[in-house]
Amino acid sequence: MEIEGARAFERPNSYLTPEGKVPMPSKFTPANPILLNCEVCGCEIQEFPSHAANRRACSRKCYAVLRVALARPLKERFWKRVNKNGSIPAHCPELGPCWEWVGKLIKKGYGRIMDDDKSVMLAHRASWKLHFYSPPPDKAVCHKCDNPKCVRPDHLFIGTKAENNADMRQKGRHAHGPKPHTVINRATEYERRLRLRAERAELDAEILRLKESGITTRQLSVMYGFSVPSIYQRIYSAQGRKRYVSRKITNIKEDQLREAYTILNQQP
Ligand SMILES: [Zn+2]
Ligand SMILES: [Zn+2]
Repeated sequence: MEIEGARAFERPNSYLTPEGKVPMPSKFTPANPILLNCEVCGCEIQEFPSHAANRRACSRKCYAVLRVALARPLKERFWKRVNKNGSIPAHCPELGPCWEWVGKLIKKGYGRIMDDDKSVMLAHRASWKLHFYSPPPDKAVCHKCDNPKCVRPDHLFIGTKAENNADMRQKGRHAHGPKPHTVINRATEYERRLRLRAERAELDAEILRLKESGITTRQLSVMYGFSVPSIYQRIYSAQGRKRYVSRKITNIKEDQLREAYTILNQQP
């Protein structure tokens, strides 16, 4: 919806002076500019003195060209981050020392590197790519040495994801048990809790009954193996439950009475 008389603010690109139309200066035009030349297209740049050291190109477009031109290839970046005197795998020392990744690691312990197309790549997959061929996305590059940091090509072998999982299971490295923060079956969990609550209520009622029959709290504590305060707690909650149930019953009676009353009033 447009409101009459209201206009979106637009920055004018020129303004009028007595001498005629003059182009609007940029807001950030430096007062005492340093003159530079764009490294890509060679045009002249005016830059603040404090920013001049880092300024290399005139525009976003030229910076994009520059970034591609300056990017170091995968091979160069890869070898900067490899330590060839890593640990020797304990279960197969004949493989020799691992070549460990000293760069960025992901959570599972694998090295991480940027591919030439700027996609994120795991370092051992990059190693396979540099030494042999680019591993297809449905294949896994696996470790003979079980060292996720290792990028040594003769410690690696290629297999399907299923083969890798089978290999992990055989070596006992796979995750066991339920995953954290997941309830596998909500219904089962709910039933379990209901059952526990019912069991607890039953026990509390039993303790209350014994207490009312004249057994002391100390004796009950010895009988059930609970501390005296916890016996008191259980008696208290059993009494509470009793009260709650009786209140429920009286509510039902009240409702029935009210219903009967309305029926009576409706009759002529
Ligand atoms: Zn330029
Ligand atoms: Zn290794």
